[in-house]
Amino acid sequence: MFDLNQRQERIIEIVQQNGPITGEKIAETLSVTRAALRPDLAILTMSGYLEAKPRVGYTYKSEGFHNAIRRILNQYRVKDCKSLPVVISESSSIYDAIVTLFTEDAGTIYVVDKDNYLNGVVSRKDLLKTTLGQTDLFKVPVSVIMTRMPNVITCTLEETVVEAAKKIVDHEIDSLPVVRVFVGDFGQERQEVVGRITKTNIARLFLDLAYKTNKEG
Ligand code: ADP
Repeated sequence: MFDLNQRQERIIEIVQQNGPITGEKIAETLSVTRAALRPDLAILTMSGYLEAKPRVGYTYKSEGFHNAIRRILNQYRVKDCKSLPVVISESSSIYDAIVTLFTEDAGTIYVVDKDNYLNGVVSRKDLLKTTLGQTDLFKVPVSVIMTRMPNVITCTLEETVVEAAKKIVDHEIDSLPVVRVFVGDFGQERQEVVGRITKTNIARLFLDLAYKTNKEG
């Protein structure tokens, strides 16, 4: 995915309004030489925005519905739509985890070690399952039932929301911890939890985009 520069966007506008139009005429409109425009026109034809017909000039080629959607969606990053993580310590009891689930209104809780690095995740069903057995909810630490590192699927602030959504769907989970990765003194990777991205965050982005489209007509 690449972004067009201001001049390239202006060229597209000119061609949309006046096409078919020759390179000479576009250069004239922009008050630059034909030679100066050559790289921009090459990029725009190669990337499929414009079509160059010999002896006719440039015409605008619509990028197509699906390409437009892909281009728009890929602009959103995890850092734009994450929310705050709900975190507990690995020594907390299962009972504490259940209470946290209710008080923080979260579906999944991230479990951290004594240095505050990600150690595991515990979900609604993990907790429900323990209530079916003989487990002492007050005594057993949540670390016994969590899904632990390195099996936790995470994402970073710079990843696109589309990449995060793909991980959520592929792994059939409800959320991903958003992490900053550090490399420890002995080369081991440690992850600091800086957010969470859930199916709700993604649904919200979907709605925002729908309303934006409405407002802009
Ligand atoms: P629920 O338990 O409400 O269905 P999930 O579908 O998210 O919630 O969890 C299903 C299983 O996947 C649980 O055992 C949970 O520990 C695990 N899990 C949840 N999130 C992650 C994640 N980001 N990475 C790895 N495993 C996860």
